[in-house]
Amino acid sequence: MACISEQHRLSCAVGGIYTVLAIEKFLPILHTGPGCEVNAAGALTIVNGAQTPITYIDTSLPCTDFCEEDIVFGGNERLRKLVDEALKYFKADLAIIVDGCAAEIVGDDIGEVAESFEDADIPTLHASLPGFKGNNLWGHSQILSAIIDQYLQPSSEKIKGLANVFGIVPYYDTFWETTLERLEELLSRLGLTPNIIYGIGKGKAAIDKIPQAEFNLVIGPWLDLDIAKKLENKFGAPYFHYPVLPTGASETSDFIRAIVEYAGLDKANAESYIAAREKRFFHKLQRLSNTLIGGIMYPKRFVINASAGAAVSIARFLIRDAGLIPHRIYIPEDVPEEHQARIEQLIREPVYDTKDIIDYDIKFTDDGGLCESEIKNEDFSLLHVNIFGTTWDELLAKNKGLPYVAISPPSGDYFVVGKTFFGYDGGLEFIRDLQNDSIRKFLGSGAVANVE
Ligand code: SF4
Repeated sequence: MACISEQHRLSCAVGGIYTVLAIEKFLPILHTGPGCEVNAAGALTIVNGAQTPITYIDTSLPCTDFCEEDIVFGGNERLRKLVDEALKYFKADLAIIVDGCAAEIVGDDIGEVAESFEDADIPTLHASLPGFKGNNLWGHSQILSAIIDQYLQPSSEKIKGLANVFGIVPYYDTFWETTLERLEELLSRLGLTPNIIYGIGKGKAAIDKIPQAEFNLVIGPWLDLDIAKKLENKFGAPYFHYPVLPTGASETSDFIRAIVEYAGLDKANAESYIAAREKRFFHKLQRLSNTLIGGIMYPKRFVINASAGAAVSIARFLIRDAGLIPHRIYIPEDVPEEHQARIEQLIREPVYDTKDIIDYDIKFTDDGGLCESEIKNEDFSLLHVNIFGTTWDELLAKNKGLPYVAISPPSGDYFVVGKTFFGYDGGLEFIRDLQNDSIRKFLGSGAVANVE
């Protein structure tokens, strides 16, 4: 671990409540200190696309506001009263009691409190989320595990073509909502019935269908693999792991062919779709690139300081479709060691025929500031680079006058509605963002490129 970790990209485990808040009418009930939720919101919503939850506003969730008195006498009884009232006043489909550091340290038993509501009309689960045990990604896993272990029951009926979709962590992935909408459209177009549990119109009905799925799709390098294995053990459904959330034509076409092969879908239908979408993609990419501005404005090398998922997606897209060259890649996400070599291989796999890609570093770190400390004094006057990362890296890019695109959380204090870098159009959206920032940085004008 670094001596001093700067520029946090993750929240503590309490950030797992945002996975609950992404499921319509699912209510987290907090047995935490009054500031714990705000800490999580800072990293996952306020400065991360200015996101707001699906059903319940995160600033007015039921919370015991764990205090000194609870540390001395225990807070279980106050929690029990709070749950009782919350189940009456919030019209939830399911509630999950979560705790934080203080309640865990004094030994409050949220499992016992949840069990005392087993006869309530609203299923009431529990998940421990103390920040001293893990970050929000661990918290996300705890929440999904609680739903699987405490709520879901095996089903004798499997529905052909029904596929649960995992691998994208809502809110943490700034673009999750639109990505999942586009992924749902794509999988449906190919002949699958995707079961996505997050977002509007999903909720309990989607959760209840999980045990009936033919298989689970995990899309992305490492997140939710533990959940897919748990579902396989409990319900017998296998999982298909596609390690890249595709951006741009080459990756999206590869993904389509892989899922069509795995699920035994109509290949001719998929190939005609791929042909039409690739034609459109490369036509528009060429229109963006053929302009004087598009052709020369942005540098051809790039630095990434981002989550593993974003680093893999964007690096592969830039190498395969856009002809850019990696300079350095940092992954400050606490990726478990068991996944690191595989993620590095995913980034290094696409190569040019030429020797343009010289050796470059890929660093896994828990220090978000490592990138800045290593490159802030580097002279980029001859070897200009782009910087792709988080709002922290935007400051570095501004100071050095380098083009920047937000690809990873926390991703800026702007509204993110309708944005994603997923799929064919996502690649075009990324190139447009890059060109627009290049123009602003190099010409200082308000001129922007557009993709209709
Ligand atoms: S680390 Fe502990 S005390 Fe701090 S916000 Fe997280 S749960 Fe609360």
